[in-house]
Amino acid sequence: MANPWTHKAGEISASVSQSRREFLRSLTGAACARPFFSVSSSVAGPPFASGLQSRERRAVVVTFGGGCRDEEVLTPMGQQNVPYLLRELLPQGTFFTHVENRGILGHYVATASLTTGVYETFDNFASVPPQSPTVFEYFRKDLKRPLHDAWVVAPSNGFNRIGSSDVRSFGPGYGAQVILPKRFLKQALMGTTGDYTRLLQDNYETPLFSPQVEGGKVSLDEFTELLNLSAKDFVTQALTLSSADELSFFVAKRLMRRYAPRLLWITLHDMDVAHAGCYSLYIEGIQRTDRLCREIWRTIQSEPEYAGKTSLFILPDFGRDSDGSIGGNGFQHHRTGDALSRTTWMLALGPGIHANRVVDRPVEHLDVVPTLGARLGFDARMARGKPLTELL
Ligand SMILES: [Zn+2]
Repeated sequence: MANPWTHKAGEISASVSQSRREFLRSLTGAACARPFFSVSSSVAGPPFASGLQSRERRAVVVTFGGGCRDEEVLTPMGQQNVPYLLRELLPQGTFFTHVENRGILGHYVATASLTTGVYETFDNFASVPPQSPTVFEYFRKDLKRPLHDAWVVAPSNGFNRIGSSDVRSFGPGYGAQVILPKRFLKQALMGTTGDYTRLLQDNYETPLFSPQVEGGKVSLDEFTELLNLSAKDFVTQALTLSSADELSFFVAKRLMRRYAPRLLWITLHDMDVAHAGCYSLYIEGIQRTDRLCREIWRTIQSEPEYAGKTSLFILPDFGRDSDGSIGGNGFQHHRTGDALSRTTWMLALGPGIHANRVVDRPVEHLDVVPTLGARLGFDARMARGKPLTELL
């Protein structure tokens, strides 16, 4: 794949980061950490977080997906859509204004790249596993963690292979369990009448794409058993929810209560309804995601297994096209691959992470997995990124 990153793209990206920093500074008065650390290739390996502390640590990663733009989030006009992120969460964490995604801008492949720390290059719409070991495999293998200690809650059938790679010496035996809540809800609703599109829409990008879930490892009965509630109660609960992301949060919360996994990955996706071209639904999706991020953080604080031990990483998988992109269509898609849609951000909160801090040096999506490794005590040895020193 040709490297999409040019000198010009770097300039645009730095300018986006700068305007984010200025905006956040005016908003919160956050202390700005100047780029103390160069992005050097001389870092030999992850500095392990050692001792009992790292083994007790937990992590929850939330993708603020499927992608939003600064206009709707990180500008004076956009801030009204993310009040919890900006007013409640950001003052408690460290915000990276310049997170580059140099990979393919499709949701599954981009999220897979996030989980491996390597830019995956497979077809976004293929039912294939990541080609490099995932964070779940490093975590479970190195720390000898059981199956129930790593979970993914994903929005679409297309994500069903994201829990593990097929790399020799890693693979499904060390992977995460992947829960696709909509798949089970669809099964449970079979034979009933009613329009449940708000909960069941699988993919906003290509309405004709309807991947088959291979393996079918978990039946509906087993799924509801995992959540510790009956199929009937699951449906009753689900139908009170307003969207697929609400459903994902409901399932994640049950998993946290029941298994308290040390590594949990939640992929939110409602805002990708933007592909349908309806701006108000896109904005609603952003507002809901903002609220759910707050709810996830509050859940972490209220669960004894998580409180005081858990870091939360929130980041978009990528952005969306700018209004000025030739060949794009504004907020609707992420087709152009321009620097704006590749320059994302990340908020990290949790024990040992500075509060109310902004970091504006350029980092990459690929740095997330090595950072998790350094915090939790495993070695993401095949990942291409580097641990984010500001979070260690
Ligand atoms: Zn999309």
